[in-house]
Amino acid sequence: MHPIQLVVFGSGGVGKSALTIQFVQGLFIEFYDPTIEDCFRRALQVDGQPCLLEIIDTAGTEQFTALYDMYMKRGEGFLLVYSVTSKGSLEDLEERREQILHIKGSTDPAATVPIVLIGNKTDIIHEREVSTDEGRRLAAEWRCPFLETSAKTAENVDEAFFSLVREVRLA
Ligand code: GDP
Ligand code: MG
Repeated sequence: MHPIQLVVFGSGGVGKSALTIQFVQGLFIEFYDPTIEDCFRRALQVDGQPCLLEIIDTAGTEQFTALYDMYMKRGEGFLLVYSVTSKGSLEDLEERREQILHIKGSTDPAATVPIVLIGNKTDIIHEREVSTDEGRRLAAEWRCPFLETSAKTAENVDEAFFSLVREVRLA
């Protein structure tokens, strides 16, 4: 089966690895080397249809490297992750999305590049800096699905990836 290539982007520390590992292995990792960039596979059914996912958990800090360029070209769907405890991590995603649209050759603002916006770390209630509404508003602007997740409690983690698979299928 042809694997669907998904790429997880977001600033360092937002929980890209924790989300990916929670989804693929069903466990929460307290510490995962932030410099490791890895590819994970999971075969599953989404809406009754089987699929094989290949998920690239990126680890570059911010730079628009040649590697990112390649991920963006090869990627079929993008999980753009911020942490609800960091306003800056949400702001960083604007640029990342523009790079993706640019590389995909899409200048149309209603672009069909499959993206899902994720606000992670909802379990850290007392340090929240980004409201649910702020995330929802950005997703409305981008016309993409939006979910708040916790890699720690696993809340909405499966749903985040399922939602991205649906976007890829629709594109
Ligand atoms: P990455 O740099 O985006 O890959 O971030 P990591 O996945 O390495 O996570 C950074 C830190 O945040 C680690 O200590 C994780 O255990 C923690 N973390 C990630 N997701 C969550 C979450 O949903 N809730 C909580 N409480 N901590 C999280
Ligand atoms: Mg990581």
